[in-house]
Amino acid sequence: MLECIVTKFGGSSLADDEQFRKVRSILELEPTRRFLVPSAPGKRFSSDDKVTDLLYRCHALASEGKAFDGPFEKIRERYLSIADSLHLKVDIASELDAVEKGIAAGNNRDWCASRGEYLCGLLMADYLGWRFVDAAKGVRFFDDGQLDEETTQSLLSSLLADGSPAVVPGFYGSLADGSIKTFSRGGSDITGALVARAVNADVYENWTDVSGFLMADPRVVDNPAEISSITYKELRELSHMGASVLHEDAMFPVHKAGIPTNIRNTNKPYHPGTVISKNAPNEVSVPTITGIAGHKGYSVISLEKNMMNSEVGFGRKVLQVLEEYGISFEHMPTGIDSMCVVASSEALAPHREEVLEKMKALVEDNGSVSVSDQMSIIATVGRGMVHNCGTAARLFSAMSRARINVRMIDQGSSELSIIVGVNDSDYENTVRAIYHEFVG
Ligand code: ASP
Repeated sequence: MLECIVTKFGGSSLADDEQFRKVRSILELEPTRRFLVPSAPGKRFSSDDKVTDLLYRCHALASEGKAFDGPFEKIRERYLSIADSLHLKVDIASELDAVEKGIAAGNNRDWCASRGEYLCGLLMADYLGWRFVDAAKGVRFFDDGQLDEETTQSLLSSLLADGSPAVVPGFYGSLADGSIKTFSRGGSDITGALVARAVNADVYENWTDVSGFLMADPRVVDNPAEISSITYKELRELSHMGASVLHEDAMFPVHKAGIPTNIRNTNKPYHPGTVISKNAPNEVSVPTITGIAGHKGYSVISLEKNMMNSEVGFGRKVLQVLEEYGISFEHMPTGIDSMCVVASSEALAPHREEVLEKMKALVEDNGSVSVSDQMSIIATVGRGMVHNCGTAARLFSAMSRARINVRMIDQGSSELSIIVGVNDSDYENTVRAIYHEFVG
């Protein structure tokens, strides 16, 4: 029997009174769900506004000295209608007035944005009859805006120590002087992970509007299979290549504490979703691949130089050029007297000429530097390929049958992924070929 589950509900799960009802019935299904971290109400339909966006708009208008009642009335209406429909007692009208005054008084952008979660937390705590714990008292940032993990851990764990059910609004915390600071967008995921670690939860449930991760992008592969179990390391690889459901920084606190995260769908509460854990324990059979993710728009800078391999420090000098311009490299396949650096074309664009000039100086007269663009990188990720013979052979045969030319190959030493580079025009066909080879 699980003892303590921390739940985080995203904006679409809290968009209106109907969604609030679903949340309560999810909590009633499992009484060990004792802590809840809400986002601000999100979109009810595709052209709707997220409350956080409306708050940012109010702040922008107020800071230009303009009236902000247009977006603010939309915000007021959202909260009042939830409170009315659920017959809540909390005096949300006065709270809304205080937020309006705070925006007009010139409170900073983060304070304004944080009120979405704060107000939503007040409503939810009242609806559930749970304690409201202001995240400003539990989540602490350093003055430079970085999360102060240690202080946060100790503040949150003492605030929640008595184990009574509590609502802790997501997305924000405070600096040491008490002023409000938010995470980057989507940051309630991080608050949920911090609360899970602080109460040493058995599971961190992240409730959203999809039933977990899919093995491939549904815009590329028809009806891709769902991933039922994935490790934190695999997820890092996939989300680095663009597959995202969770805020990237939300994985670290729970991963460190060995707490599994379960992505669940508020609109399909019985669907088991995806479990992300350290080791994916108790597996009867591990699928060879867990997922495929990729991205278009990379450039390959190729350098050639006689006797490159005997020149100690050449690689460092090449990377230093990129570092000087703040460009991070993705891969660096090397030959004996040649080397390639792969970087996003977008990141390279503003400094392309200077970077190439400096690299030409490095290879001197007997070498050459060239760039080719429009390369896609595709990562096929799977803990099932470790020590498993033949995975690479299958992957490349599938690509060859689909007549796709491989421009680059990279397999990390962890054997957790095989990375291939192909022309952008081959991107979709490559993902499909790999998917159908391993999944069917
Ligand atoms: N409400 C914030 C946003 O829209 C934070 C969150 O939902 O996680 O980004």
